[in-house]
Amino acid sequence: MSSRDLNLLHPSTRAKALKLMAACGEKGLNVLLYDTRRTRAEQNRLFAQGRTAPGRIVTNASGDSMLSMHMWSIAVDFCKNVRGQEFSDAGFFTQVGELAESFGLEWGGRWRSFPDRPHLQDSAFISGSQSPRPLINQFGTPERFFASWPIGAGAANPIVPKPPATLIPSPPKPPANTSLPVLRRGSRGAAVRDLQSRLGGLAADGVFGPATEARVREYQRANRLIVDGIVGPQTWNALRGADSFAPAIPATVRRGSKGETVRQLQQRLNAQGANPRLAEDGVFGPLTDAAVRAFQRHGGLTADGVAGPLTWGKLLS
Ligand SMILES: [Zn+2]
Repeated sequence: MSSRDLNLLHPSTRAKALKLMAACGEKGLNVLLYDTRRTRAEQNRLFAQGRTAPGRIVTNASGDSMLSMHMWSIAVDFCKNVRGQEFSDAGFFTQVGELAESFGLEWGGRWRSFPDRPHLQDSAFISGSQSPRPLINQFGTPERFFASWPIGAGAANPIVPKPPATLIPSPPKPPANTSLPVLRRGSRGAAVRDLQSRLGGLAADGVFGPATEARVREYQRANRLIVDGIVGPQTWNALRGADSFAPAIPATVRRGSKGETVRQLQQRLNAQGANPRLAEDGVFGPLTDAAVRAFQRHGGLTADGVAGPLTWGKLLS
């Protein structure tokens, strides 16, 4: 999918990455660097995964948002270059992450609330921000940023198409679902009950009323589907694809919400390392609000404290 060509990195980021590779070599750390540049199309494809395409959700930044550091070629991901153990050796990530820091790279494994262990980024370009917004403000697009680099740097290199990366395992395609009925406001029966339980946050009463329609629209919006409140083949495929690889998305909760869904949210935030740890009491107060915002910031989402489908998607992935 995206490139492993270190020449595509910004020259200063590349120099740091090369020092890291050399140091890893000396220490016998078998490291593989990947994702040196993602094009807008690649990032959009990655974003579609788990939404309009099969698979589980792996990113919350669409290509069009330009919010992935990898699109700006100032970030690189690493893993252990041993088949089957790419991501399982925590000690390896710490060793390489600390080495990377000694060469001036920021290591995602250090992020306090929500670590991203394979991720390294050259924060010199974003001055303390957690996202490429400073670059978006200054250059508009990655292409214009690349054009500003010294002649002979990665800007001049063509993006060579590579065979798809196999590092992020893609699950098998779910079967096509041509036989599922189209459901809309007023539909009734077992298929509606199935729909409601997949959507979550609804009484599975088999009656497609206004609440179900609102939830369908919410789901369609979050999954970049046509937002019409009608469950046709596209929406069914997204729902069934998601069902195979991720739990159904719970209802949207926010400050003041109470109950089981909030308790579930607090549990997920704690599992993701919320700091301070939250009481799992089902009451969405200021601490839960702060934890949701921190989680959203780290995930490149709008930090509004509202746990909607995108935030849930990231929490459950
Ligand atoms: Zn990364």
